[in-house]
Amino acid sequence: MTETVFIGLGANLKDPAQTLRDAIVEIAAIDETQLLAQSQLYTSTPMGPADQPDYINAVVKLETRLAPHALFSYTCRIEQEHGRTRNGEHWGPRTLDLDILLFGQQALNDEQLTVPHYGLQEREFVIYPMLEIAPDLILPCGTPLQSLTQRVPLNGMRPLN
Ligand code: ATP
Ligand code: CA
Ligand code: CA
Ligand code: CA
Repeated sequence: MTETVFIGLGANLKDPAQTLRDAIVEIAAIDETQLLAQSQLYTSTPMGPADQPDYINAVVKLETRLAPHALFSYTCRIEQEHGRTRNGEHWGPRTLDLDILLFGQQALNDEQLTVPHYGLQEREFVIYPMLEIAPDLILPCGTPLQSLTQRVPLNGMRPLN
């Protein structure tokens, strides 16, 4: 059985656009997983502490035979390979952040994973890139992704270049 998965990517240190391009290649190389689609790269204003560089964001769509926690262990490893360290500052700057946004229609909630991701419906840097690659998506809660644009503005986010 395969599931369709969406992953949100973000970075704002080192060379974030190149980091995201590399990370997408690495995600595509995960075992038992295929890359189905990738959004453009976007530039967005930081959430949380404002004294940090703008973010580069993207969303990818995958098909996987892996279980959620198995996929999560791969995405954590990719973050670590890009030098992700946690300094304790919530939403502070980072070389690479990979969030599992959706895992098919599954709902998970344990110490490692909350899926759908709790920020999905509020974050422009998730909603708009995701819409680009899945314009007709209905969230597991029944809400059309498209409808979220009515209450979440772009907030200055734009495609890179
Ligand atoms: P936010 O979660 O608000 O986007 P963040 O991405 O900066 O903030 P992290 O420090 O990257 O937060 O992750 C904190 C924890 O979130 C991780 O240890 C991870 O176990 C947990 N987590 C829960 N649900 C998910 C998910 N769907 N995808 C990735 N990590 C998740
Ligand atoms: Ca693969
Ligand atoms: Ca995040
Ligand atoms: Ca994260």
